[in-house]
Amino acid sequence: MSASLATVAYIGATILFILSLGGLSNQETARRGNLYGMIGMSLAVLATIFGPQVTAEGIPMIVGSVLVGALIGLYAARKVQMTQMPELVALMHSMVGMAAALVGYATYVDPEASKNLDSAAHAIHAGEIYIGIFIGAVTFSGSVAAFGKLSGRIGGSPLLLPARHWLNLVGLIAVVYFGREFMNAHTVQEGMVPLIIMTAIALLFGIHMVMAIGGADMPVVVSMLNSYSGWAAAATGFMLSNDLLIVIGALVGSSGAILSYIMCNAMNRSFISVIAGGFGTTAAAPKPTGEAAEPQGEVSPILATETAELLRDAKNVIVVPGYGMAVAQAQHTVFEITKTLRDKGVNVRFGIHPVAGRMPGHMNVLLAEAKVPYDIVFEMDELNDDFPETDVAIVIGANDIVNPAAQDDPTSPIAGMPVLEVWKARTSIVMKRSMASGYAGVDNPLFYKENNRMLFGDAKKMLDEVLLALKA
Ligand code: NDP
Repeated sequence: MSASLATVAYIGATILFILSLGGLSNQETARRGNLYGMIGMSLAVLATIFGPQVTAEGIPMIVGSVLVGALIGLYAARKVQMTQMPELVALMHSMVGMAAALVGYATYVDPEASKNLDSAAHAIHAGEIYIGIFIGAVTFSGSVAAFGKLSGRIGGSPLLLPARHWLNLVGLIAVVYFGREFMNAHTVQEGMVPLIIMTAIALLFGIHMVMAIGGADMPVVVSMLNSYSGWAAAATGFMLSNDLLIVIGALVGSSGAILSYIMCNAMNRSFISVIAGGFGTTAAAPKPTGEAAEPQGEVSPILATETAELLRDAKNVIVVPGYGMAVAQAQHTVFEITKTLRDKGVNVRFGIHPVAGRMPGHMNVLLAEAKVPYDIVFEMDELNDDFPETDVAIVIGANDIVNPAAQDDPTSPIAGMPVLEVWKARTSIVMKRSMASGYAGVDNPLFYKENNRMLFGDAKKMLDEVLLALKA
């Protein structure tokens, strides 16, 4: 393929990626967005493999690697449960980071890469390598730590080392110092020492940064690492002089940054306080995820048949899904119940909190999978004022996102986070298996409110019973 044809293909792929991002911004166009992304990626891969930068001898190795990668990807996509998606995404971000760091090292030791460069171009080339490896290493180790936290292999509470901000500052100064050493090195061997030391610092920095974030702030970490992986890809593009990687990396990097901003707004946090870590943990340290909270009063349990009766008699119902719906895979039964109630003339709507579940858009994906109509799925802000006119608010496996302590208790680790005000409905019903806390590890006073009922049990099992009673 000629260089100009490859450039045309790259431009085509870039346009498809932009269309893809545009499509993914809305549930109704998300499928089309995915399709554009897939076509764009295929075009990009083909244009790269058959482009002028790859020689004929390199093709078998590339095809072999693509096949191995595709097989691993296919296996993971089939095997991974919906609840493990956030961990998988974190793991994929780590791969992008690792690739950026490895490409950086490979470019540095490749004599061809810096041949015929004058001193200014040489300095820029070295700078690209240094920054690329730094971003890649931070993304890699940060994503691995996020994977550990999201999969529950590492505890959710923040690790707050003494003088942690000073540690970060010293690390940053050291990175700048070794950067200077690296730029002044005359040989590859000489430059390798500062490069390796910087990589070690960057790896520790990534781990420290993610480990210090706890409570309910993890959503920002997920979107922030998404952004970092984009910048790591852009850095790789600079090192390989690949325009498409630069553009796509910048697209992913900036969209991830915008998502982080949206997540921060959704949680009423400033980005800096999230990154600084440990926000709100001094006054009331959160318990590890899932640990049973101290009883704060009496709760009123309810049966599935009674729940069905309340729903049948209601005019307005708001369903608030959370992580537990994903765990129980209850979305299809939720859809059946919604359909049955709507057929009976009940106005059923869904309230989606921006950080519900374990990844941005988690609930929307599940509801779309179950074919719940988009026009009854609302964002938190769109229906939070409607709870006082709601007969029944039914909370399915959600906890932190409906916790009134966020509004009432300034010492709570989630203080200030906007929540769905389900307790303002005539009756709220919380469906969960026990009195255990949610991801942020804080007790939920909603459970003890007078107008609240607890429907204990696995969400899928209990909803099946509710559906049976509704149809009886
Ligand atoms: P929570 O983690 O607060 O609560 C989920 C609840 O579901 C638990 O209390 C659990 O209680 C219940 N549950 C679990 N399994 C089942 C089941 N099979 N059947 C019924 N109930 C079940 O989830 P929310 O969605 O309310 O809030 C999300 C939290 O996750 C927030 O703190 C958010 O910050 C954080 N987070 C979000 C990310 C994102 O990007 N969206 C990323 C990382 C973290 P029990 O064990 O008693 O059943």
